[in-house]
Amino acid sequence: MTMDTPFWNKEVETAPRSRIEEIQLQRLRETVGWALKTAFYKKKLTQVGIQSPEDIRGLEDLRRIPYTTKDDLRLSFPRGLLAVDMREVLRVHSSSGTTGIPTVIYFARDDVDRWTDLLARSIVGTGATDGDVFQNMMTYGMFTGGLGLHYGAERVGMTVIPIGGGNTKRQIQTMKDFQTTVLHVTPSYLLHIHSKLGEDGIGRADLALRKAFIGAEPHSENTRRKLQELLGIDAYNSYGLSELNGPGVAFECVCKKDMHLWEDAYIAEIIDPATGTVRRDGEEGELVLTNLVRRATPILRYRTRDLAFLHPPGCDCGRTHRRLSRILGRTDDMLIINGVNVFPSQIEERIMKIPEVATNYQIYVDKKGALDRLTVKVEIYPKLFLGEVAKLEALRHKIVEELRASIVISPLVELHEPGSLPVFEGKAKRVVDERPKD
Ligand code: AMP
Ligand code: ZN
Repeated sequence: MTMDTPFWNKEVETAPRSRIEEIQLQRLRETVGWALKTAFYKKKLTQVGIQSPEDIRGLEDLRRIPYTTKDDLRLSFPRGLLAVDMREVLRVHSSSGTTGIPTVIYFARDDVDRWTDLLARSIVGTGATDGDVFQNMMTYGMFTGGLGLHYGAERVGMTVIPIGGGNTKRQIQTMKDFQTTVLHVTPSYLLHIHSKLGEDGIGRADLALRKAFIGAEPHSENTRRKLQELLGIDAYNSYGLSELNGPGVAFECVCKKDMHLWEDAYIAEIIDPATGTVRRDGEEGELVLTNLVRRATPILRYRTRDLAFLHPPGCDCGRTHRRLSRILGRTDDMLIINGVNVFPSQIEERIMKIPEVATNYQIYVDKKGALDRLTVKVEIYPKLFLGEVAKLEALRHKIVEELRASIVISPLVELHEPGSLPVFEGKAKRVVDERPKD
């Protein structure tokens, strides 16, 4: 059975597997050519005997290329992975949740164009059209979620409201004023918005919502169902990461059975995170992605640290690109707090620089309503508790500000007396995550 669904680029989206592989091989060669222009890959590829695009004879030659990690990107900052002249760079993005040195991604004009096309394709695949009013609630700026979908929605011809993140009252008012039909939002924020409906006299019946693109953070099928029922909408999972452009790597179609990963633009592999061995369709492991459509910052075999599996080809919509499962976890300790990536090491690095802070601390995550809440509990030296309350409050405020500068979001900070937080004899368990797993 096939479902009657619209396409943005039917030929590519429904291409036979052999054609997809042909495109992949041609683009992989092209990408290797771009990569050889960067200081980082020139060294790395030469070491394994790849000196020109012709050294890639078949897709199996991808396996000769070593993996790339986030640390590689950090160490290449700022221009070790730049393959074009800066004059050709049209835009710069970076990843959230990086310690000290950010990871930076450059886009040339044709890179932005190809990325935008993947988003247009993703949007149309959900049944959204140029008749829709699109409220983009993702943060704009260096984070790719805002501008990525913005450009894609414009290409489709939707009416775009670039409202950005936060300010719930204004979001709801805007949904009513412009009769928004499609949202782009993190699932936790959408639940939060739902909890605020009705407060200013605007209820579900005053709105025209029909769809939401939800992504940037892990969520379950239950959360999707709940959102759909509470708001009377269809919700589609959207996956991406800045190293691979951002959103538009994988997106659900109208069948809502996991996300088509656009294989003409990305080569996906699932590997055993411990050994690096490549796994088969259906087997869970770490997702490794090669970007085939970015000239300014080529990325080959990037270890995403996201755990997932790939479905074998085939979908009722007729698309032939394999589907990626929900993200099942991470191989590292990265936390995602309301869509923002936070590494515990970032927090440690900052608080340990503050002289008043003693040695023990704890990172505590829970939920307040629908939203994630991050609390950093720190032990401070006992003499500080003998001073004025105002001074303690100033110190607490200083720690909040320091942390905000590093992790972008504002945590709650609690000051504790030495010895009051749990102590560990072995490996310290600094992170306590009490968010329900639903
Ligand atoms: P960033 O590079 O800041 O866009 O963050 C990318 C990371 O966010 C990914 O590696 C995932 O861990 C997470 N992420 C993005 N989209 C999803 C999604 N739909 N489901 C689960 N996690 C996601
Ligand atoms: Zn499909």
